[in-house]
Amino acid sequence: MEKTVGVLGGGQLGRMLAEAANRLNVQVNFLDAAGSSAKQITNHDGHVEGSFKDSEAIQKLAAKSDVVTVEIEHVNTEFLEEISEMTDVQPSWKTVRTIQDKYLQKEHLKKFDVETAQSIPLAAPTKDELAKAAKTLGLPLMLKSRREAYDGKGNFPVKSEADFDAALQALGANKDLYAEKWSDFKMELAVMVVKTKDEVLSFPTVETIHENSICKLTYSPARGVSREINEKAQALARKAVDCFWGKGVFGVEMFLQKDDTLLINEIAPRPHNSGHYTIEACPLSQYDAHLRAILDLPISQKNLRLREPSIMLNILGGETPDSHIQAAKKALELFGGEGVHLYGKGQARKGRKMGHVTITAPTMAEAEKTIQPLVDFMDQGKA
Ligand code: ATP
Ligand code: MG
Ligand code: MG
Repeated sequence: MEKTVGVLGGGQLGRMLAEAANRLNVQVNFLDAAGSSAKQITNHDGHVEGSFKDSEAIQKLAAKSDVVTVEIEHVNTEFLEEISEMTDVQPSWKTVRTIQDKYLQKEHLKKFDVETAQSIPLAAPTKDELAKAAKTLGLPLMLKSRREAYDGKGNFPVKSEADFDAALQALGANKDLYAEKWSDFKMELAVMVVKTKDEVLSFPTVETIHENSICKLTYSPARGVSREINEKAQALARKAVDCFWGKGVFGVEMFLQKDDTLLINEIAPRPHNSGHYTIEACPLSQYDAHLRAILDLPISQKNLRLREPSIMLNILGGETPDSHIQAAKKALELFGGEGVHLYGKGQARKGRKMGHVTITAPTMAEAEKTIQPLVDFMDQGKA
């Protein structure tokens, strides 16, 4: 392929993007530290060493790449805007700028009549401001950082007024905060959406299980979800992504509430943890789809279908530096290591995403039976 892709960041999402790109002879240049996850599996001289927070390094990457994309939304969008004069940036810097501030993201969705949790920005991180928001939203509520949030870092559940101090302390006095109405959801769903130059397509609906605000498991198809709700989730996810600019895959997280209404929780303008299962379970993976979308290569809805029910389990860092290796070995022992992915991140830190496993089977019940001993093994390691 004649076009070269540049990526801000070179972690596990970049690494899996490179795996898809390698099969198509697409060169992907990563801007990150030497030896990062993505660089380990891509041997060419197009990489840039440095930080994706550094303007000069981004300029260098842009000069070498026909299309620049991101594997993380917490980037400086002024720099992205600058390079968009000389190279194609996908999705648009406007999309990244709107999405990276969770409150602005929600305001934007509201303008397009996309249902999201009611949100109120705090003019200052004070008890008075929080009390004002609580008066409108009720308690409990979720206090959130507007920017730089991931894996639940940046969220604090506020159950009563007694939590106000702890919440404000935990989220840092200097951060911009907003309060979000509590969603008493029965389930969390997610859909990977693909925005091409002229269409909005979607992968199947996934059920996500979070533990301590970190994604632990995904099930596709979502268990016990009716055809009607599934279609509603698909339509809502597509409608949400349709109101952003540019091309690429987007991860759309949703709450299915007790009354069967759906709300958008948040959107990621990039490949997403809830889409890892697509590597084994769909004809094209979310990474294949991202590349095809940003490079204007052919892609159709039928390439995004589910071939078999699947479960994805995240391998998080545990009590010991090699707990992720132990988990991978256990998967080899239990079921021959089908669907094991390790990210090459070196030593584990507790809760850090070190790898994942995807199981597929003719029925969801079989997939559940296969993965359960590994879930138990990893739960024991946490004790
Ligand atoms: P990610 O790693 O997905 O980017 P994040 O740090 O951006 O996570 P959120 O997606 O905002 O965090 O929230 C993490 C989890 O916290 C959600 O998946 C959900 O389980 C819970 N949560 C978030 N907002 C609410 C809410 N308004 N009401 C109830 N629970 C919520
Ligand atoms: Mg997030
Ligand atoms: Mg989230």
